[in-house]
Amino acid sequence: MILIYDTEVLVTEKILLIEDEEPIAELIALNLRMEGYEVSVAYTGYDGFDKIYEDIPNLILCDLILPDIDGFELCKRIKADERMRRVPIIILTARKGLEDKIAAMKAGADDFISKPFEYEELYARIEMNLWRSRRTYDIDFLTQLPGFLPFLDALSQKAQSQEPFSLIFVAIKGLKEYRQVYGEENLENVLKFVGETIREVLKKEGTKKDFAAVVGIGKFAIVTAPERADHFAHSIIKIFNEGVRSFYSLGDLERGAITILTRRGMERTAPIMTVHIGGCSNATRKINSMWDAIEIADEVLEYSMGFTTSSYFMDRRKQYC
Ligand code: CA
Repeated sequence: MILIYDTEVLVTEKILLIEDEEPIAELIALNLRMEGYEVSVAYTGYDGFDKIYEDIPNLILCDLILPDIDGFELCKRIKADERMRRVPIIILTARKGLEDKIAAMKAGADDFISKPFEYEELYARIEMNLWRSRRTYDIDFLTQLPGFLPFLDALSQKAQSQEPFSLIFVAIKGLKEYRQVYGEENLENVLKFVGETIREVLKKEGTKKDFAAVVGIGKFAIVTAPERADHFAHSIIKIFNEGVRSFYSLGDLERGAITILTRRGMERTAPIMTVHIGGCSNATRKINSMWDAIEIADEVLEYSMGFTTSSYFMDRRKQYC
């Protein structure tokens, strides 16, 4: 069954600051960086959009008045995008009017702060919004992908709609052994790499309707349209097989294995990590509920995990009812 991945991992949180007045932007960015955040700055609304899609931030700090589109419009567009709506937006405004606050809330802003502000207050609001978004949306901080609960939401919506869909599980084999030799930090880098791979593949080859999540340690789920599942799976395997090599020493790569110690102190070898994918679709068989989908996809994944090289299988059992 699925393992819920709730390892606390400390990673630097990324803030995107959208502010057209350069000296103000620089000053805020400097302060936020000193506070330990990773900050990128955009000077226009459209530049902000580009930056959001390049690298999804953990939080957006956005000035209300910008030269091209205003903060309200930006909020509306971000909140209308399924992939982005979980990112909290704090609007910076010079005005104190109630009207602006109401308009900001209607546009989907999570919070606002009036300029001039005390930095302590800004930090407190940032932290509060980050905490709330983590709790509400269940984000895996290592991979920046949604967690188990949003996955269940997305899958249940699919299962209830009459639309054809595929659910595929992606799992990495050999993580435990890898951690034993290379340590926790390297393992985290591998997981980040897999998360990035999945995000990239979906971004390049998918549509807004595709959904990916982290559902266990080294286990991911993708909900997509049946016609895209094969393509995603093959791309993930290709990128993984090439990329995973960079996480090993040359010696291990040459041997094609790592050496680990068993509990009794005996040496044994473990192969280089592989990725295994298994899935199912309601296009080929009747799937009554999301739990059905999870169970079938899990079975196929287990079968796929039995192979020694990276592998992908879809449930092809036809069921006529
Ligand atoms: Ca401005």
